[in-house]
Amino acid sequence: MFAEVAFNLATGTCFDYLVPPELEGKIHLGCRVRALFRSNELSGYVLKLKEYSEYSSRANPIICIEDASRQFPPQLLKLADWIVSYYCASHECVIWNLLPAVVRKGEMQHREAVYIDLAPKSKDQGSPEFQALTPKRQEVLKTLTRLGGSLPAKEMLGAVDAGDSVIKALVEGGWLTKSKRVEERDPFANTVVQRDKPKELTTEQSAALKSIVEALDAPRPKPILLHGVTGSGKTEVYLQSIQHCLDQGRDAIVLVPEIALTPQTVLRFRQRFGDLVSVLHSGLTDGQRFDEWTRIAGGRSRIAVGARSALFAPFHHLGLIVVDEEHESTYKQDEMPHYNARDVAVVRGMLEPCAVLLGSATPALESYYNCTIGKYHLVEMPSRIDDKPLPPIELVDMRLERASLKEGEKGSFFSKRLKMLIDNALHDKHQVMLFLNRRGYATTLTCNQCGYTASCENCSVTYTFHRKINKLVCHHCNTVIDAPAKCPDCGNPDIRFGGYGTERVESVTRAIFPNAMVARMDSDTMTNAESYRKVLEAFKCGNIDILIGTQMIAKGLDFPNVTVVGIIQADIGLNLPDFRSAERTFDLITQVAGRAGRGDNPGRVVVQTCTPDNYALATAQRQDFAAFYAQEMPGRQALGFPPYTHLVELLFRSEKEEEAAQAAQAYAAVLMPLLKPDVQVLGPMPAPLAKLQGRYRYQMLLRSADIRGMTAACKAAIAQTPLKALRKVPVEIDVDPRFLQ
Ligand code: ADP
Ligand code: ZN
Repeated sequence: MFAEVAFNLATGTCFDYLVPPELEGKIHLGCRVRALFRSNELSGYVLKLKEYSEYSSRANPIICIEDASRQFPPQLLKLADWIVSYYCASHECVIWNLLPAVVRKGEMQHREAVYIDLAPKSKDQGSPEFQALTPKRQEVLKTLTRLGGSLPAKEMLGAVDAGDSVIKALVEGGWLTKSKRVEERDPFANTVVQRDKPKELTTEQSAALKSIVEALDAPRPKPILLHGVTGSGKTEVYLQSIQHCLDQGRDAIVLVPEIALTPQTVLRFRQRFGDLVSVLHSGLTDGQRFDEWTRIAGGRSRIAVGARSALFAPFHHLGLIVVDEEHESTYKQDEMPHYNARDVAVVRGMLEPCAVLLGSATPALESYYNCTIGKYHLVEMPSRIDDKPLPPIELVDMRLERASLKEGEKGSFFSKRLKMLIDNALHDKHQVMLFLNRRGYATTLTCNQCGYTASCENCSVTYTFHRKINKLVCHHCNTVIDAPAKCPDCGNPDIRFGGYGTERVESVTRAIFPNAMVARMDSDTMTNAESYRKVLEAFKCGNIDILIGTQMIAKGLDFPNVTVVGIIQADIGLNLPDFRSAERTFDLITQVAGRAGRGDNPGRVVVQTCTPDNYALATAQRQDFAAFYAQEMPGRQALGFPPYTHLVELLFRSEKEEEAAQAAQAYAAVLMPLLKPDVQVLGPMPAPLAKLQGRYRYQMLLRSADIRGMTAACKAAIAQTPLKALRKVPVEIDVDPRFLQ
């Protein structure tokens, strides 16, 4: 018997080992084993068992099996295979990515604590023997009984009015017992979670739940796309679907785009299901992550809520995968393997098999398209809970605003309309949210004399000026330099800060509304989860009147007292050279607008723009997804963009421009003849972001409806390209890229 073992080496291949007779029957797929590689003993995972190996005469034997807690969950092996093949990734890379590092490394232990418990004979507190104890000792035993009969040793002294010696004596006398126990590190340890009850569903919610229950009961269900407007009560539908899944004795996974940005959503799962919920996200300590993962693998937790990687939670009886905000690009991993967790969720659903529920107010066009061709089942919830109207959206044309300025009057990025609505809201003690998807103070620093523009040396982008720290910051590589007082090129002191970000919006807002309490939420001000929680708490209590923010405030927040939402500049995204720019703009306006009017007072949304006639803005104004879809799709079809085709991006990066270009050309020369005639090829060419973090970037884009044909050719081309061409600059393959940059 032979085993194929994957090590964490950048070789891209598995290696054959002999299974020694004493391990036969014990080694199975996903086993973590030790084996000699060259002259080092390494750990690896068994991915295949076979009778025959072409290296049989030279194969080394496997040395031993490593401990059970670090094995790769066998139920995920097929999924790993799929990711390897679809995303052109290596087995080792995928296997290593699907297991949390802390589990893989195996250095983490369960935390143990010493507990003190009442011994059986302490239960009869009327016995003569008990009565014979000193009053102090009796008191200790009675207190512990009142506290439930068991306490961690380190809490014991604080809880009872006695010293160490008394407790020691009680242990020796057989009244108390001491034992070591596993203590789970609970990410919710410091939060008070109030339990809630299932809500009575609206007609639309009931219909949605019914479809999902049918899917849960079906042997091979189709994925369901739940298209529900913001505030339609999608989360309640998720919760009750999960209840049904638990009742069937099965487990559930809930994916949320970025857990740090959706604390309210996570809390709602914990409120409904308490300890059955595990959370998995990057904010956990290693110890917490280790405990949550082992809780899932051991069946002590039934629901995993988390970002992207929670999809790989090692449940044994998975019944349902929910993907909330399924259109979000954060589901796509931007390093190898470049998988999209939404799409892989659908595949895991097919393999288990289990039900998959994708939810969004603005579905990805790919997902909606999949409904029209019968791949997914569409369920719609077009109304808000309690028939609250969607807030009216007003487009304000900033060109007219500027044209109407009188002589000498200075323009502002607050339109008159938005300013008036904010005044009114403040007067009524309502709250306001202002959105701008750009942080910092100014986006460019230019010399008025020579035209010099400050740009990053490592990246082909301009620096952003941050006023509070008086620095220039590159938003791509985080290089920080002192802001110059005069032009570094010609020495002229007359330099201009152009464009604006949230920092500037904040300072102008404070100046225009001096009596309002203003806070800003972006990655400059929110340096940890705690600062984020504090601002949200203050906003909830009404200690903040105007909340300014980026992406961070766009999603999932539910503050009933917010009546005015302003989008300062809605065209930022529209001007990007990306075929999804209209789609993203539509999504963003819909999501941000959804923050308004969630309570008893109606909301209003002002969208400031210089291109009010753009169809993405016009359809977003009417909050008409179907109309946007109908206008966007013919263009996608005519130009051959997804969902009618698939894209594959091939990237070549090097600190030397020459090397990147040469690798791209060498690879292209081999690839081109392997591609079928229907594949359109762009490049090789410098990528739109030609330099990033000090590395030059060359790119090729492939486009065809036949994704498997393209990826097969790409893989074959790697094998056939002369080794020396790709040794320094390996090809990075991104299948179905989300951003073209
Ligand atoms: P969505 O996720 O679709 O934006 P939410 O799930 O956040 O919507 O629901 C919006 C609000 O309506 C929440 O405050 C939620 O508690 C409430 N809600 C949801 N379903 C019901 C229901 N059936 N009855 C009463 N309130 C509900
Ligand atoms: Zn940079």
